[in-house]
Amino acid sequence: MKTKFLTLLLLLGVLSISAQENIIGFSKKASEAELQLEAEFEKQLSADNLDQWMKRMAAEPHWVGTAYGEENVKWMEKQFKSWGYDTRIDTYHVLFPYPKVRLLELTAPTKYTASLEAIPVEGDPYTAQGDKLLPSYNAFSTDGDVKAELVFVNYGIPSDYEELEKLGIDVTGKIVIAKYQGSWRGIKPKLAAEKGAIGCIIYSDPMDDGYYQGDVYPKGPYKNKTGVQRGSVMDMPLYPGDVLTPGYAATKDAKRLNREDAPTITKIPVLPISYEDAQPLLEALEGPVAPASWRGGLPITYHIGPGPAKVHLKLEFDWQLKPAHNLIATLKGSEFPDQWVMRGNHHDAWVHGASDPISGMVALMEEARVIGNLAKKGQKPKRTLVYCAWDAEEPGLIGSTEWVEDHRAELQQKVVAYINTDGNSRGYLGAGGSHSLQAMVTQVANTVVDPQKGVSVAERRMATNTVRGGDGSFKLSALGSGSDYTPFIQHSGIASLNLGYGGEGSGGEYHTIYDTYTHYTRFKDPGFQYGVALANTAGLITLRLANAEVLPFELTQWHSTVDGYLGEVMKTLESMRSEVEKHNKLVQKDVYQLTMDPKKPVAPAKMEAEIPYLDFSPLQNMIADLKKSIDTYAKADLMGLSATKKAQLNQALMGMEQVLLQDKGLPRRDWFKHQIYAPGFYTGYGVKTLPGVREAIEQKEWKEAQEQIGVLATTLKNFDAEVQKLIGLTK
Ligand SMILES: [Zn+2]
Repeated sequence: MKTKFLTLLLLLGVLSISAQENIIGFSKKASEAELQLEAEFEKQLSADNLDQWMKRMAAEPHWVGTAYGEENVKWMEKQFKSWGYDTRIDTYHVLFPYPKVRLLELTAPTKYTASLEAIPVEGDPYTAQGDKLLPSYNAFSTDGDVKAELVFVNYGIPSDYEELEKLGIDVTGKIVIAKYQGSWRGIKPKLAAEKGAIGCIIYSDPMDDGYYQGDVYPKGPYKNKTGVQRGSVMDMPLYPGDVLTPGYAATKDAKRLNREDAPTITKIPVLPISYEDAQPLLEALEGPVAPASWRGGLPITYHIGPGPAKVHLKLEFDWQLKPAHNLIATLKGSEFPDQWVMRGNHHDAWVHGASDPISGMVALMEEARVIGNLAKKGQKPKRTLVYCAWDAEEPGLIGSTEWVEDHRAELQQKVVAYINTDGNSRGYLGAGGSHSLQAMVTQVANTVVDPQKGVSVAERRMATNTVRGGDGSFKLSALGSGSDYTPFIQHSGIASLNLGYGGEGSGGEYHTIYDTYTHYTRFKDPGFQYGVALANTAGLITLRLANAEVLPFELTQWHSTVDGYLGEVMKTLESMRSEVEKHNKLVQKDVYQLTMDPKKPVAPAKMEAEIPYLDFSPLQNMIADLKKSIDTYAKADLMGLSATKKAQLNQALMGMEQVLLQDKGLPRRDWFKHQIYAPGFYTGYGVKTLPGVREAIEQKEWKEAQEQIGVLATTLKNFDAEVQKLIGLTK
């Protein structure tokens, strides 16, 4: 009954679309043909395939360099070949550390040795594979053997160190223990080392993804007391990819840095642990009680230290070059073979990786299968499709980064857009990326039907956004980092998207031995309905980019987004100014000292330097100029142009995102060249928009901020010149 009801809604969904306006980039006639093709595509997607393939690919651990990882690549290659794709495996040789020695002990005031071992659970045979499971560790921690007093630093992010400073606590020469979350994990050892700490421990507090959130595995999806999140701590905001070959491909004979000189390996040893192992350490701390917002879900009083707890942390790794195998599968376009639409998802996992990344990988494969099938029956895409399965994403986006560095010039010539997926689960559509694609993605999201509610996935997401206090509109988020789109958009200026469903499949399995087929099919997406929804969403976007007469880039929404970012940055500066003014007044009136509890002394508050005014006018003027140009372009009748003009326009549109790069890159990290989006230097995955200007302001580098305003204004001026060219082509 339920199925029939949904089928009816699906039909209605398709019907309501054909009654709509044309698809962006398609004439009326071409829209009809495209919608027919899309309906056929949707009809052939099968959840059973996703289920079977996940069971196969996530049967054993398959991190980079493993035999099972290589088997997966060869097996996928066979599938793609059978669907009509030309395939090749591009292999790079990348540094990958495997843990040899992992020792963590509390040496005073009591003794405890951390077990560092997650237990197998009943009903999930994958967790009982013993030695096959990868030990828990943080990849690209340096080797080290350190003994020191312990300090609890909350999440170990910049605001936490400000709080510690107020309390008069210095971490120099100490080992810090930080909770997971609050930032990307690699920020924690990076900041701890900058503050003088000599070691770093990261643990998962039950408040964040353990029993405080819900029942723990195997009863529920959350982290049990022994679960440990693995993960990379490479300094990816500097540059991702192979640590020994920055900016160029890690081919067999490439010139490599010495490991001691690799700037993206951590400066201090760092180890992740479970809350079972963390509790004795935290319990042994004294000193001030942690601020209320720092306390977690353990049945203890959280103290900060330092000491009397003393710990010994010893780590040694086997540093070896490992082969990273990227599978590249190509379906040649019938009309524009030299224009590529690229899709990618990584295939390597920390352990079994049923959710991360296989749930996204199998959706990509199902999409490719059906498109291959349609092509065999004569419905070939007009542009070339390139499907990629990346290796070594988990240790630092390595497979994709090396491949993009190897082929950058060709990709900048040929790629229309790159569409990334990764882990997927039940819930709402998450979509981020280049805002020139926002209008097109919105149209697709309006046509894909939510498997649980029967409304479009756009409508469902907008409803959620409204309930959570947003403005209820459908917008793309800005891309920071955290998956394989980074080398495409940030380094090469290729328009990119990142897609995935989620929000109703939360748990504590991420990067642990519990991210298995059993866990996934019980808690994340039983029945793989959202896997099919992902294949459908990404597939429609791919097909539209592949078949459009005029590439579906739209600049009005791009402009309003960038204008909004400028407003935010200006507001940031203003609120910093009023904060400092307020703070200094309170210091002058001695308010902090008068309210301080003499039994809990804190360091005396200091006057802060005043916040200067910056001249934003070069940016404000450019944004205004761009508005006029983009409004003119938006009025042009693109569908009425000749085939030659359309072809010229498409060539120009393909290069638009690259105009947003500056070749010398961002200050202190020239690998990151995009001037609109970048991962934050101190947030890791978290995005910073207009990064050059915004980060200089946040770091109070006033001279640099004014310089970066100039750099960004030049970038926007170049963009305006390109829009003028587009206008010229429409005449
Ligand atoms: Zn992933």
